[in-house]
Amino acid sequence: MSTPPATPIELDVRPTPDNPEASKFAAANSGLDYDVLIVGAGLSGIFSMYRMRELGLRARVLEAGSGEGGTWFWNRYPGARFDSESYSYIFSFSQEVLDEWNWTEHFSPQPETLKYIQYLTDKFDLKKDMQFDTRIQTAKWREDSSSWLLTDHSGRTYTCRYLVTAMGILNELTLPNIPGVHDYQGQAWHTARWPADHSVLKGKRVGIIGTGATAIQTIQAIAGDVGSLTVFQRTANWTAPLRNTKISPEEMAEIRQRYPTIFKQCLESYSCFVHVADPNSVFDMTEEERLARWEKLYETPASASAFYAEKIRARVKDPKTAEKLVPKTHGFGTRRVPLESGYYEVFNQDNVRLVDIREDPIESIVATGVKTRDELHEVDILIYATGFDAVTGSFNAVDFEGVGGAKLRDTWGEGIRTYLGLTVKDFPNMFMIMGPHQMFGNIPRSIEYAVEWVANYLRFARDNNIQSLECTDAGVEMWTEHVHECGKGLLANDVDSWMTGVNKNLAHKQKRSMTRYNGPAPGYRKRCDEVAARNYSDFTLKQG
Ligand code: NAP
Repeated sequence: MSTPPATPIELDVRPTPDNPEASKFAAANSGLDYDVLIVGAGLSGIFSMYRMRELGLRARVLEAGSGEGGTWFWNRYPGARFDSESYSYIFSFSQEVLDEWNWTEHFSPQPETLKYIQYLTDKFDLKKDMQFDTRIQTAKWREDSSSWLLTDHSGRTYTCRYLVTAMGILNELTLPNIPGVHDYQGQAWHTARWPADHSVLKGKRVGIIGTGATAIQTIQAIAGDVGSLTVFQRTANWTAPLRNTKISPEEMAEIRQRYPTIFKQCLESYSCFVHVADPNSVFDMTEEERLARWEKLYETPASASAFYAEKIRARVKDPKTAEKLVPKTHGFGTRRVPLESGYYEVFNQDNVRLVDIREDPIESIVATGVKTRDELHEVDILIYATGFDAVTGSFNAVDFEGVGGAKLRDTWGEGIRTYLGLTVKDFPNMFMIMGPHQMFGNIPRSIEYAVEWVANYLRFARDNNIQSLECTDAGVEMWTEHVHECGKGLLANDVDSWMTGVNKNLAHKQKRSMTRYNGPAPGYRKRCDEVAARNYSDFTLKQG
């Protein structure tokens, strides 16, 4: 890695029930309901709330769901789990959490991840400042008072100085734009709205549309329970074996010892994962060495290997089905690679059938099932594993109005434009945690950095009596160009996926866009640290 890791930011203001600094915020923001409102109670919102409270701010989390957890609250489908090592995904901000929390699997299943999140909110008593079942519909910047006015679904209003969006990158679900979706008379749901009773599938004729990361996890988990399963595949995906195993108490103790090394590895790596790129070029190997190397990787947990279509062919008994499962439209790694544990073997079961809808397209969804050109597939339950209006979807769902009535939907209408992925021109005092143009690799690592950056700015604003911050046109121009520059030559940006902002199910036309920061994480942090070190002079700052 050529870019040195950035120095982690240390806050010098620490827990503060009677923090005298808090009174400075209170005085500056009197007349407003809150100093900070945080939209979303997922991992981003939870850590934001923790830090804001530590700074002595009057903060509140507003969350649409009926509980905390965000992605891990909503996505309760069977088989849902991290497909990155659990211990590299844990928050690092609290030594007590690292000492207390035990992972039981290398790739944590959703119920355990949700328990971990609930443990965090209980441990830090965060729920008393969280308001659930509250869907924010509008957020309006009020220039006269340099404050935000939010309105929820019931018409209730909330005012604050700072707005932190913590809405997640995969939040707004999308149903397929297939005629007749609403004509279906059986039970149907999107994977992000799975019913609490998982036994409903038992013995039923089930259809599932989609073969992305979510569908691949779901299919493996339900194939043994259902009467029959029909998988409607538009694009086959490359996968790699997950090779999940349990973590014994002894192994957990050993992992705990390694946390400092794990976080250091994450900090130094390109996307904040514990894995680093193999320095050996395949072009320097003989064919034999290369195959041996790839074979070894295929046997290793969570390794990526495309190598082989041959692996798929070897695992799926019916050659025609195997051929359909081998991706033909894109190369390995150019789309997000789902990890699997027995996905291909599912297609050897008598009760499972793969329908390649590029060969036999879906014409419509009818009362009893899915009508393809050649056949009517009758099902009792239809599952939509059709993904999300990713990244900008959560923002588009709220009517954000900034300076001079600027609408965020218009600002990003011709493509996403941000400064540092943290701020947007015309939307002062609004900070995005996991916003577009930020690192999407190891999410908790990215969240921790973004929240620390925001918290540091707020401390600076307090100490310098600054009432509003807004990025400049020049900053946005430079950053947006930089994000695009970093993405040049990456094959992943040539392929249609949520990462390139392509979702053909949306009624509105969406411009193809680079949704994430494409450069190395250490470089990203270095740039953001430099902006802070320049006392945020890249921004327009207004004193109170
Ligand atoms: P996705 O990757 O966007 O996949 C959606 C699937 O639905 C694709 O197979 C897509 O086909 C299909 N589809 C969409 N519209 C369709 C239509 N009109 N007709 C037929 N098929 C249609 O969504 P996802 O699987 O929910 O995953 C989204 C992201 O969530 C992943 O990339 C990953 O980052 C994250 N995720 C993470 C984990 C984890 O383990 N941590 C697990 C699950 C998901 P096409 O490919 O042809 O568009």
